[in-house]
Amino acid sequence: MKHVAVLTSGGDAPGMNAAIRSVIRCGVAKGWIMYGIQNGYAGLIAGKIKEMGTRDVGGIIQKGGTILGSARCEEFKTNEGRLKGIRTLRRMGIDALVVIGGNGSQTGSYHLHRLGYPVVGVASTIDNDLYGSEMTIGVDTALNIALEAIDRLKTTASSHQRAFLIEVMGRDCGYLALMSGIAGGAEYTLIPEIESDPEEVAEKLRLAYEHGKSHAIIVVAEGAKYNAESLIKFFEKHQDRLGFKIRATILGHVQRGGDPGAYDRLLASRLGNGAVEAVDREEYGVLVGINKSEITTIPLKDVASKKKEIPIEMMKLARILD
Ligand code: ADP
Repeated sequence: MKHVAVLTSGGDAPGMNAAIRSVIRCGVAKGWIMYGIQNGYAGLIAGKIKEMGTRDVGGIIQKGGTILGSARCEEFKTNEGRLKGIRTLRRMGIDALVVIGGNGSQTGSYHLHRLGYPVVGVASTIDNDLYGSEMTIGVDTALNIALEAIDRLKTTASSHQRAFLIEVMGRDCGYLALMSGIAGGAEYTLIPEIESDPEEVAEKLRLAYEHGKSHAIIVVAEGAKYNAESLIKFFEKHQDRLGFKIRATILGHVQRGGDPGAYDRLLASRLGNGAVEAVDREEYGVLVGINKSEITTIPLKDVASKKKEIPIEMMKLARILD
């Protein structure tokens, strides 16, 4: 019989609760003792660990956020901090740890593995910037929230012949911006992966105006060289030649909130089960993700050291469709 703990770390993502529920219930189904750790690596270091059963994760599959809480913990970036965490786990007789989180969190879990502690990662971040999993928990819901905002802004933009700049999250990855730009029918999308020039955006707006478009939507990734704030400053100086009046909306954390959609609930349930199966096989030091619709494992070493690329064909498609 195994004793296994689960934690959520880094930026929260809709579907994390469904993943916690799946890990706890799949573990209990194997006859294991399961534990939840509060507030990510900070709670691990502080020993905030409690046993959890099937009933403790009842009624949460449809809820956004994470019932375990999440945190960013600088101490865990040091070997001392990580060793403290490992000592806590060993002292409590916990055999393995499941880490639900994104890039930073899985770098942390790689270091735990490197120090000899059995760990399995679950791919969860709205940014979809995690190497080794085509999709991660939270992406689909965040994308739908961005789309809802774009659709609403289009309605008001049309009434006033306005252009809207919509800044979406994603840190230094343009995935969310690119996909919401394509799916939202944006006139232009700026992402960190492609060099863009405000002059080019201004030209695009002017042409859209001259063609008699009733609105224009520009989607900007938060990590793009020119974010919404700098673009607005630029456009204010060139208002006369643009035609449209410009407004900016920064979606920010609105994108993280909200309840997970069907895709994220199902993905989280499958990845949680995948993590428990990996622990059962004692296949440690891996990230559980999804590739070509199959649940897969990939070494955390690769996850921590490699960068996920945005599909090039989607970048081309965005330019054709805008
Ligand atoms: P996300 O997991 O969503 O990418 P962060 O990048 O903020 O979020 O990382 C979450 C936490 O993971 C950090 O606060 C830290 O505790 C841990 N972490 C990040 N990088 C490392 C690292 N190099 N070594 C150990 N832990 C790390």
